[in-house]
Amino acid sequence: MKLLKVVTISGKIECKTGLCIKGSNSDLNIGGADSEVIKNPLTGDPYIPGSSIKGKMRSQLEKKYGMKDKKGNVILDKPCGCGSKKCKICTVFGAHMNAGAECAPVRIIVRDANLSEETIKQLKNRDFEKGNFLEVKAENTINRKSGTAEAPRFIERVPAGAKFDFKILLQIFEGDNENELIDFVKEGLKQIENSYLGGSGSRGYGEVKFIDVIETEN
Ligand SMILES: [Zn+2]
Repeated sequence: MKLLKVVTISGKIECKTGLCIKGSNSDLNIGGADSEVIKNPLTGDPYIPGSSIKGKMRSQLEKKYGMKDKKGNVILDKPCGCGSKKCKICTVFGAHMNAGAECAPVRIIVRDANLSEETIKQLKNRDFEKGNFLEVKAENTINRKSGTAEAPRFIERVPAGAKFDFKILLQIFEGDNENELIDFVKEGLKQIENSYLGGSGSRGYGEVKFIDVIETEN
């Protein structure tokens, strides 16, 4: 298959509520929050991993277009691996556990989203030390028997209003329906807005909006 072009869909992710995508280094940081957000170790700035954006897009789209059982209901616990050229999920995101899929290769590349210049400036103007501006939210757990609050957990979050730069590359091969694939990716972004990014979405975390979205070709 011949690669015809690469379409870039880029813009900003605006956090409407606090965002918590967990890092894995909390036990190295004694006295830190119980749950910390993932950060670039060189700058200390939080970022949104491309894998989080891609994974959420896919899981949301699977709810609508994923594999169906005999009754026509979507099978939610299994990503699509049909590998058909007609399946937009397998074509864009890759056929799950299917190395010989006819739709290969995977069309989408999602870059890590770093904090936007604007947000970095805002934070500096507010005299925050670099990497030390994250919000730490105390959350109580309620003991169901006694009804009393137990020791709070401290959850670190990126504050509402922060913006990240995102970039998605879509490889267009000969025979692809370009507009259909672009629309599918954009629908994926819409579906993230209808859901959330990161953890604790059902408790209000991770509401985001994709803004200033543009398409370029090369
Ligand atoms: Zn499929």
